[in-house]
Amino acid sequence: MKVFEERAHAGLEELKLATAALDLDTVSQRAAAEDWSYTEFRGHLLDGELKNRQQVRVEMSLQFARFPYLKRLAEFDFKAQPAVDKSLVEELATGRFLVEGRNIIFLGPPGVGKTHLAIALGVVTAELGHRVYFTTAIDLARKLTRAMNENRLSREMKNLTRPKLLIVDEVGYLKLEQPEASLVFQTISQRYERQGAMILTSNKAFSAWGEVFAGDAVMASAALDRLLHRCTVVDIRGESYRLKEKRSTAKDTGVVQELAAIAANS
Ligand code: ADP
Ligand code: MG
Repeated sequence: MKVFEERAHAGLEELKLATAALDLDTVSQRAAAEDWSYTEFRGHLLDGELKNRQQVRVEMSLQFARFPYLKRLAEFDFKAQPAVDKSLVEELATGRFLVEGRNIIFLGPPGVGKTHLAIALGVVTAELGHRVYFTTAIDLARKLTRAMNENRLSREMKNLTRPKLLIVDEVGYLKLEQPEASLVFQTISQRYERQGAMILTSNKAFSAWGEVFAGDAVMASAALDRLLHRCTVVDIRGESYRLKEKRSTAKDTGVVQELAAIAANS
């Protein structure tokens, strides 16, 4: 008996079924104690292995993504933000947009939950076992500029087109210079050609995207053409969640009103 057990253990390790190898003893004991059929035994042993692999894959994908912090859809209070259609977000969370190469653009003033929703859908993407990469528009532009200066632009571009999902946060918060705008445009264009989904967030209406692309209205409209061809736009006109929370607790409404005025102007 012992010989067979050892051989099974070694075999599982050889086959790189490390979790199954680790679980073999306990699963065998449970099988004996609970009178499992061979099918049940095999199911339990493989289940552990598969669950562990899935978990490792998700963890690796979350590390690769470089999210600034983790946010989940479950933490999003849809009642506090009626401008966001819950059933639409739930549809997006099925991950169908990834398969279809559909983009998602969250528009709206600061604090309305654009980054929260973008990250949450990114986490869903990782949990579905896909690669996702998060960046801000300005970081993307700088990364590409550096790569271009170091003669490795095509490799960097490949890194940005390969992940199933690319999230570009804060489009339009900082104005891009001409060469930067052109590099960001190339990224959009290449992902469009490969039907790779993107999520973008912006505080600027599409009509103001000329400014975002270094004042080049032609480039901005070419970028928007590609982005909007297959796209779900979520326009969040509501008020800042942070300010709303503050208002419900704050005594000094003067400060809150001042902050609201600043947010409305930005
Ligand atoms: P934006 O990117 O639109 O400026 P964020 O997504 O960064 O806004 O949201 C600001 C903060 O408020 C974050 O901590 C976010 O988690 C939280 N938040 C925003 N909207 C909601 C909401 N509807 N429910 C729960 N938290 C929210
Ligand atoms: Mg944000």
